[in-house]
Amino acid sequence: MVSKSHESARVTSEDTPENHSPSRRKILLSLLWSAAAANAATLFGGGHKALAQQKVTKELSQYQDTPKDGQKCSECTFFEPPKGCKVVEGDISPEGWCQLWNKAA
Ligand code: SF4
Repeated sequence: MVSKSHESARVTSEDTPENHSPSRRKILLSLLWSAAAANAATLFGGGHKALAQQKVTKELSQYQDTPKDGQKCSECTFFEPPKGCKVVEGDISPEGWCQLWNKAA
């Protein structure tokens, strides 16, 4: 069964085959492994907060400080105002963009 919160992160109809480049898949796999590691740490009582808070680098996500094709961080489901992101580390501009962009509902 798929939970509602999981559905919000699903691939949207705006994702095209061109957007699913090998590097985007690599980043998504990296995030999935991070989530799995965090869950394992929780299950085994390790309490490794660093794992639970792991994000990908700007370089890996190919982050840029400017919008791309009308897409920008402030309209992404992962954006955390005023300058944060749930999945990419560091300061994030509302006008920025990266390969993990996913339109907010
Ligand atoms: S586009 Fe989305 S995932 Fe990428 S840095 Fe901006 S808010 Fe984060």
